[in-house]
Amino acid sequence: MTDTPATTSPAGPACAATTCHRTLRDHELQLGQTLCAPCVHTIRVWLHELPLQLVVLEASRQRETTGARTGSRTVYVTAPLPGRDDVLNLLGPAAWSDGIRDPYGQAREDQHGQLPIAGVLIPWVRIITEERHWNPPTALTPQALAAWLAAPRPLDWASRRPWAGDMRDELHRLMRTIWSITRLRPQRRPVSQPCPRCDSLDLVETDHQPYITCTRGGCEAMFTREELALAARIHPAALEAGAA
Ligand SMILES: [Zn+2]
Ligand SMILES: [Zn+2]
Repeated sequence: MTDTPATTSPAGPACAATTCHRTLRDHELQLGQTLCAPCVHTIRVWLHELPLQLVVLEASRQRETTGARTGSRTVYVTAPLPGRDDVLNLLGPAAWSDGIRDPYGQAREDQHGQLPIAGVLIPWVRIITEERHWNPPTALTPQALAAWLAAPRPLDWASRRPWAGDMRDELHRLMRTIWSITRLRPQRRPVSQPCPRCDSLDLVETDHQPYITCTRGGCEAMFTREELALAARIHPAALEAGAA
């Protein structure tokens, strides 16, 4: 261990994801994590919802090219759905050799156009299999790659790598692209309690997420329900203000 002061000060190292403003907690640091636990959980939620998103993406591609038969009439969908090129790109194939990448080097910001889902996942799966000498998934479908990456062993190990923040940010970009096409975003609801970090009333809870997030720009803190319950006990007046 280092000689870091053993205090409850929140001024520890920040989570490696640029989209997260959480400070790593003691138990996360002890595990050697560079990503905070909420970010790791969020990645797992995204990977688990990918198969459902793929069903919708596939359906939207088919609606583009085939007519739907209703009774004796064939109805052709003439209005192209938004993001058609994106759908085709997202569903495109990717090869294992596309995954050669230096995760310690530059992010792939310089790439033009949307990579296929498989093409986004392969480099991360590949770096883990190569560094750990683990067997890759037998199929390179987005579903198989996502399931492999979401398993506890690979994802927990990845969360301790210096590139974990890049992985989280890249997967977030991918999910935003997918959500913008499928419109299948997890539902969000406001929480009537002020944010323990910035005091704003911008906390929201999201389906399938155990973490409640502050949506105020510059804060974006994440809390478990237990942490919020504790904050409410410490500052009951703040909770009443939030419920008012
Ligand atoms: Zn984080
Ligand atoms: Zn906040």
